[in-house]
Parts: sequence; structure tokens; C-alpha cells
Amino acid sequence: MVSQRLQPFGSTIFTEISALSREHGATDLGQGYPTFEGPESVKQAAIDGLRNGWNQYPPSMGTAELRSAVADRWQADTGVTVDPDREVTVTSGATEALAATFIGTFDPGDEVILIEPYYDAYPVGCALSGAVPRFVTLHAPDFRLDPEALESAVSSRTRAILINTPHNPTGRVFDRAELEAVADLCRRHDLVAITDEVYERMVYVSDHIRLATLDGMAERTITISSIGKSFSFTGWKTGWAIAVPELTAGIRAAHQFLTFTVPNAMQYGSAAALRIDDSYYGELTDLYRAKRDRLVEGLRRIGLEVYEPQGTYFVLADHRPFGFEDDVSFVHHLITEVGVAAIPPSAFYSISDEGKRLVRFAFCKDDPVIDEALEKLAEMG
Ligand code: PMP
Ligand code: GLN
Repeated sequence: MVSQRLQPFGSTIFTEISALSREHGATDLGQGYPTFEGPESVKQAAIDGLRNGWNQYPPSMGTAELRSAVADRWQADTGVTVDPDREVTVTSGATEALAATFIGTFDPGDEVILIEPYYDAYPVGCALSGAVPRFVTLHAPDFRLDPEALESAVSSRTRAILINTPHNPTGRVFDRAELEAVADLCRRHDLVAITDEVYERMVYVSDHIRLATLDGMAERTITISSIGKSFSFTGWKTGWAIAVPELTAGIRAAHQFLTFTVPNAMQYGSAAALRIDDSYYGELTDLYRAKRDRLVEGLRRIGLEVYEPQGTYFVLADHRPFGFEDDVSFVHHLITEVGVAAIPPSAFYSISDEGKRLVRFAFCKDDPVIDEALEKLAEMG
């Protein structure tokens, strides 16, 4: 039995592809999990947490240690002070921060502008809260935010817009002009901005701009991030939402009944992660830039049109040279016949067919895994 609200969503594309990939022993460039792990010192901190009594319920809003580490990291990144007691909430990954934001902030019938292609949890957030999504499409090859398209998505019921930068799956890092247009829209129509910044440490071009730092945006922006990508521990599922107390109230109201709190020792480890030396981030970016170049060059050699990502650890390519009807049949063939798993991006679109000619590959993988996938793909051509 599945509620009517969730019937359109079935199982996630990541669950389906991962299962098929395992069944066929495919080289997995599908789901975005690293094949390597984060810093040993961070892992050791979580182990110390387990050993040293961090094993009972932590406070619902998150441990004081992790909330102050989030606030201090925010201060270091933006120069802006946030109050860890009133403006930071620890959640079970960015996924729960998103769910708590939707459930705690919106009423049935409120409209939320989503940018497609989108991370698949966003429309589900709407379904969980009764909010109505209004979609704005990013178009290849540039995948730029179009201010006019944003404006025409606004109605008298619009309450919020959700921006994901760096953006999964296009790899766009929205620039200042695009984000100023979003900020302008929010200020003029009194909208809340939800920004999903889980790929904030994978940026290969100009700086990552945080929407909350633009004029008049701190008071209306909910900034969401997590440990998973930045520290190569996606299984830790520890994230957070930063927002002024008025917006934090809704998030906390939902969070206390969704999960109440997040495993104590993982919060202990996550606080250590956020206190790591700044040099770590530069090394991570260098590692990922090299992996991006390796995969992009390899895919181009094979003859695919590749949209080089400015951020994240994903790359979109146009699979039409291979002659398949759509992304689902292409990816099915890849997994079952070629032995390479990828994600069919049509799962990330509602109003546009553009995903059907695209395929998403993840490069958060050891170089031999990337090379093995490229060798198999080359034989296909
Ligand atoms: N947002 C985006 C854009 C993502 O790609 C992911 C990946 N899982 C998430 C949120 C969820 O992050 P977490 O694993 O911290 O829940
Ligand atoms: N964010 C990951 C990706 O885009 C997937 C996370 C999940 O499986 N829900 O690949």
C-alpha cells in the first residue's frame, strides 16, 4: 500500500540502478558515492565518540559541538556570524534537512519553484508537505538560469524557490548574475530561498557563491549542506540547515518528529571534520578536478558530446551518437551489455524531455574504476 501522495515516485532511480548494477557486476559510475574514504583523523574521531560515551540521544537540534562547528565553518567561509543555538539544526543528511524544510515551512497549496533537472528528493518534498512544484528548466549546452523563466513561474501562491549550487546533475556553479536574479526575485515577491550546497567543496571554476550572503538574503534563506560529499563519508548521513530563527522554527518542528536526532558519535566525528585544516579542501578540489578531466577527456575520445561540469562530481553527456531511443534504454544497455552503470537523467525532469538524450556519469571513483568504465565504453563504439 502506497499513499496517493507518494505513488508517482515509486522507488528512487538510485535504488533501481544500484540494484541492476550489482546484479550485472557493472563498473559503477551511477550513484554518487566515492569508492574511497575521507580523512583517517575524522574517522578516528567518530570511533572515539563511540568509545567515549557519545551513545545516547543527543539534543534534537544537534550536539552543541557540531552546531558550533557548523557556525564556525560558516563564519570562516562567509565572514558572517550565525547563532549555533538558534540558527543551526543538525539533520540526517541534507535529505532530511530538505524534508524537514518542506514539511515544516509549507502548507498544502503553497507553490515552490524547482529548477529542473532537479535532485529527485525535491518534488518528493513538495508531495510530503502538500506544496505544489512549479518547474523552470535549465537548457543545454549552458544550463543557465533564465531570469524571465523564473519570473513567469511566480504566482500569488509562490512561497519559495529552491536552488542547488553546485548543481546535480548538470555540474553548473551558478554565477553572481544568476544568483542576483534569484535574490532579486525573492526580495520582490517576498520568497524564501532554499539552497542545497552539498557539493560546495567540488568547485572547479570561479568561487562558489552562497545565496545567503547576497543583499537582504540572510533573513530569507535556508542553507542546507552535509558531511557526505565534502568528507567522502556519504554513509554518515549527517547534515544541517542554517536559517534565521523564524525559519529554523519550522525545520526544528518537523525534524523532532521525523528523526528527533542524529546518531551521537557521527555528530562527534562530523564536528571534527568541520574543524579540519583548510588545506584539506584545496586537496579535495585538486583530486576531483583531475578525476573530472580524466572522465571528460575519456568520454570525448569515445565520441560523446560532454557538458564539462564546473562543479559537483557528475558529468552529463549526450548519448545520441550511440543511436538509442532514450536515456533509459541506453543506460539499460550500458549496465546489462557493456557492464557500466550510469544514471538516466529523465528521472530529474518533469516538464521537459531533455533528459532523454542525456546520460549522467559520476567521477567520485578511484582512477582504475574510471579507466575500466572508459575502456568498456570505448569497445561499445
Ligand atoms: N542534494 C543533492 C543535490 C544531492 O545530490 C544529494 C546526494 N545524496 C543530497 C542532497 C543528499 O545528501 P545527503 O546524503 O547528505 O542526505
Ligand atoms: N546524491 C546521490 C546521487 O545523485 C544519490 C543519493 C541517493 O541515492 N539518494 O547520485
